[in-house]
Amino acid sequence: MHIPARDQKFTLTIDGLPVEGATTFDVTNPATGQVLAAAPQCSTDQLDEAVAAARTAFPAWAALPVERRRQYLRTMADTIDTHTEMLADLVVQEQGKPRGVARTEVAGLGYWLRATAGITVLDTVNQDDEERRSVTRQVPLGVVAAITPWNYPLGQASFKLGPALLAGNTVVLKPSAFTPLANLKLGEILRDVLPPGVLNVITGTGGLGSRITSHPGFDKISFTGSTPTGRSVMAGAATTMARVTLELGGNDAAIVLPDVHVKQAAAQLFWAAFANTGQICLATKRLYVHADVYDDMARELADLAATVTVGDPGQDEDVELGPVSNLRQYRTVLDLLHDCRDHGYAFLSGGLPDPETAGYFIRPTLVDNPPDSARIVREEQFGPVLPLLKYTDTADAIARANDSEYGLGASVWGTDTEAAHRVAQRLQAGTVWVNESMHLHPHVPFGGHKQSGIGVESGLAGVLAFTNTQTLTVKHTQPQA
Ligand code: NAD
Repeated sequence: MHIPARDQKFTLTIDGLPVEGATTFDVTNPATGQVLAAAPQCSTDQLDEAVAAARTAFPAWAALPVERRRQYLRTMADTIDTHTEMLADLVVQEQGKPRGVARTEVAGLGYWLRATAGITVLDTVNQDDEERRSVTRQVPLGVVAAITPWNYPLGQASFKLGPALLAGNTVVLKPSAFTPLANLKLGEILRDVLPPGVLNVITGTGGLGSRITSHPGFDKISFTGSTPTGRSVMAGAATTMARVTLELGGNDAAIVLPDVHVKQAAAQLFWAAFANTGQICLATKRLYVHADVYDDMARELADLAATVTVGDPGQDEDVELGPVSNLRQYRTVLDLLHDCRDHGYAFLSGGLPDPETAGYFIRPTLVDNPPDSARIVREEQFGPVLPLLKYTDTADAIARANDSEYGLGASVWGTDTEAAHRVAQRLQAGTVWVNESMHLHPHVPFGGHKQSGIGVESGLAGVLAFTNTQTLTVKHTQPQA
């Protein structure tokens, strides 16, 4: 059932209780540009209270048998599943994605929690003989700050909550101020599921994020967002030496080899670049196409771009792409489009939107072979604009793909999968796919090389990232002579 966000009440979750914000801030629907709801602004004192609640809850949570925490994760997933429509509806309103995609995002949160509940961290026995027993084990860190971006308001939380809680930590979750609503409701529906203080949800504008990263009460900052903000997070955490995991920006290259099946690959590459209106860290953001197939690939992609439905997902269930998710990002993408136009790069589809249109809509835009120095090639667009880049020599395409400060994901496309695999091995990125893109799994770690991040999320490694390593050594006493 659709309940307009403005008719709902949103509160922080601190110590298992609803807490009004000190003030409120406006949340905007990107499909209309209109204010959608007021969200609670967490004050400095309330941040301290959330940290204190998490610190108080930590010893008992960490002391639970891990089987008990697994059960909590499964109950969280069951509870989320019973609220799919309510949460998806909020994601549609605040983020702007199609309803079906929002439902999948909510379902993914439950799926990730259940799958994470099945991960086991084993002790290592280093030595066990008559002299000593030495065992290395993983212990929880303490209180984790989970800071997330607006592209998948709940999806991004799923990479952090399960692993952090399973490992025995307590959490303060801070979603983006552009998309706070679904996370606030998540906190609300989990209040009776988890012990008080184990999961706190706070929202706010104006430096709440930086107050978190330099707060002495956190043992770990698990951050997903842009590379520039990631640098600030790392600097902030330096004061306390809180551990950091940084999942940052990307500028993923896809290399299309000359033996590719153009039509099949185009259908996948279109969504690799434009799903979620291009606002995916692992979206294809530069497409290197061999000259032999460049024109065919460009034509196929342009046909798809011309026919895909773009609109307000709150009004039409069937739209395939929604607006850019907020005014700041809309301006970033417009700036890149203006730069393309000013340099005379041709658009094969889309282009600058009609300024009279309400909402932050940009149709999928293909840029025809701009130079490697173009901003649309060098910078992360994080929106529905894709540069197509022609190459003739595979080694040259690999070098151009690797010529980036980013190294999040990459993909290679061709019918000779052995040859494609050889190309994939030479790409500098945390995940490289052949003939697919963006396939993630809760048991498979992902993370960025270079300035796309530090550390990984998901899988066993993603759980270990929420632990300290501890070696316990017992020297056996010799029997008295
Ligand atoms: P952002 O860096 O602006 O914000 C991310 C989060 O950090 C938000 O919650 C924000 O409020 C908070 N924040 C802002 N300033 C802060 C500070 N100084 N200290 C601490 N927190 C602060 O990013 P965004 O615009 O929300 O998201 C888009 C970016 O995120 C893109 O670059 C995208 O590639 C990246 N991203 C990366 C991944 C990944 O897994 N690598 C996933 C999704 C998005």
